[in-house]
Amino acid sequence: MSAPHEAEVAASRDKLGLQADQLKALRAFLDGRTFGITITCDHTHGRTEEWAGRMGVDMEALVEGLKALGGTCDCKVLAQVTPDRFGWPA
Ligand SMILES: [Zn+2]
Repeated sequence: MSAPHEAEVAASRDKLGLQADQLKALRAFLDGRTFGITITCDHTHGRTEEWAGRMGVDMEALVEGLKALGGTCDCKVLAQVTPDRFGWPA
């Protein structure tokens, strides 16, 4: 079975606290697609926090949730916090 378990998906969504379109927007912001540039990670959540600030998302709660999901810095968020973990299309 390749699809994540339903309870696991629900728990992951709970930790993340974002909607599918918000995660998509965050990931586009982090990987530079929003600007057409390549982002170099400085091993912080600086860009995640910048995005949260712009979107009016609680950045502390978001960063805590991302860390719990393995997204320990901006590049890890891109690598680890993928839409499929939440049952969402990529
Ligand atoms: Zn990084």
